[in-house]
Amino acid sequence: MLETERLQFHDLLGESAQGGRTMLLPALLEAQREFGYISQETATQIGKELKVPLADVMGVVEFYSMLYTEPTAKTVIRVCTSPSCSARGGRDVYAQLREQLNVLGNHSTDGEYFVEHVECLGLCDHAPAALVGETPIGDITPDVVFAGKDNLSLKVYGKERVITKRVGVVDPASFEDYRANDGFLGLEQAFSLGSGKLIDFMDGSGLLGRGGASFPTQIKWKGAAEAEGSEKYIVCNADESEPGTFKDRILLENDPFAIIEGLLIGGFAIGASQGFIYIRGEYPKAQKIVGAAIEAARAAGYLGKDIQGSGFDFNIELRSGAGAYICGEETALFESIEGKRGFPRLKPPFPTTHGLFQKPTVINNVETFANVSLLFRIGTEAYTQYGSEKSTGPWLFSLSGDIEKPGVYEVTQPTTLRELLAQAGGVKDGAELQTVLLGGAAGKFVHTDQLDVRLTQEDSRAAGLTLGSGAVIVLSVETDLKQILSDLGHFFAHESCGKCYPCQLGSQRQAEILDRNLAGSALEGDVARLQDVGWTMTDASLCGLGQTAASAVLSAMEIFPEKFK
Ligand code: SF4
Repeated sequence: MLETERLQFHDLLGESAQGGRTMLLPALLEAQREFGYISQETATQIGKELKVPLADVMGVVEFYSMLYTEPTAKTVIRVCTSPSCSARGGRDVYAQLREQLNVLGNHSTDGEYFVEHVECLGLCDHAPAALVGETPIGDITPDVVFAGKDNLSLKVYGKERVITKRVGVVDPASFEDYRANDGFLGLEQAFSLGSGKLIDFMDGSGLLGRGGASFPTQIKWKGAAEAEGSEKYIVCNADESEPGTFKDRILLENDPFAIIEGLLIGGFAIGASQGFIYIRGEYPKAQKIVGAAIEAARAAGYLGKDIQGSGFDFNIELRSGAGAYICGEETALFESIEGKRGFPRLKPPFPTTHGLFQKPTVINNVETFANVSLLFRIGTEAYTQYGSEKSTGPWLFSLSGDIEKPGVYEVTQPTTLRELLAQAGGVKDGAELQTVLLGGAAGKFVHTDQLDVRLTQEDSRAAGLTLGSGAVIVLSVETDLKQILSDLGHFFAHESCGKCYPCQLGSQRQAEILDRNLAGSALEGDVARLQDVGWTMTDASLCGLGQTAASAVLSAMEIFPEKFK
């Protein structure tokens, strides 16, 4: 590192250094932005400043796919080749870009570009998509990528818009706009009830988490509120990385104060004075918008000491991920904030007693916090008018793939999958439907005779399906299912954190078999081998990633046995 760089870097690190190891990922991301990669010297200096051994620093650098140990280039182009983009030609555009730029390895021969294909960027409503530097770009062709302009439009639909009512209506940067559109009424209600009554206020709301596991929010909050200790945390999981899911991005970019309000209510309810919003590294636009909203809320006296005269002190810190799907797993996310590799922890103990920094913690995802704001604003009776008896409230679904009108769809009354597809204009170009991948990569393929299943937790479970985080990836008969299966295989092989063998090895073997299946070079016994690997990962993996890494593949083997010959 040159002396000038060293000085400049010391300035960058100034504030971070005081936080110790928890500032490791922010410091590495800052260095990555500044120098384009993390050299050994940079890593050594960061380690010294934060008092973290170099081996640990390098362990973290190598864990995250958005951190590089070799120089990249002035412009980094990341092209998504996950199922939704793959189905819409993402692989072809990636190949064209490589050819046009003369890319060898990842570098263009003129040294100007670093090009790589990546797993889901959460831009599936604009598939095929890419991230050029920090600019998200949709409907890509090489020319569109070279233009480098954010061309995303807002695609939010619904017969009734409750959770998304402000999306596209308010200026997301304007605190006043949020206030003028029912903003912070939920928090006012919470303050008037008093912190001791908030958990009881949720009685009968049936609010389920919207991150994929559908765990009852009230139970989680009660656990943390009753846990011993005065230091508690509330965390917003905005590491939305499930392929085919982009609803949280829409909320973060268009209604950020609703998420801040949800965190404030949650913090007040459980007795936390510090919140974190952890946004995936692939969402730089959302990070800027939420960061500005946090500052605006602070300036207006909605963060800080004695908020609105309530006696409640609360702050929010924004953290960025760095390209690791596993950090969407709650304990892996805590590890990441703590400055470690994002390895999931063994459970129990659960986060409500041993969460972030081993303190009682509530973690919910973005859509859940938006629901919290709504619930406290309108009350349980009005809230339960939406949804079904067991899946109350409004639900968001992300539609992508071969669908006429991709986008986020808000569903406020039980709706079947068939109805939702019809609302979105049906299969693209009137083609015949092959299948739907419901719940994202960790979900299952839906047989065309299951389209009348209602999109509620209880109905989907009864049908042997899962809503997951609400991803609905539509595939027409024209899309090569073998290619999509191979994409899924690569996704899990890439994202497995490697902590436990069934998933680490299983996801690699699964990807290899699916590749052979795609290439038409399957070996004798591959079908039985694929099932065996799938069942082993499902039964023996340590966390949800490995336990669901074969779920889509196994469901495809049942519905489409002819695709595995
Ligand atoms: Fe890591 Fe996979 Fe094991 Fe989860 S199941 S801990 S992602 S190796």
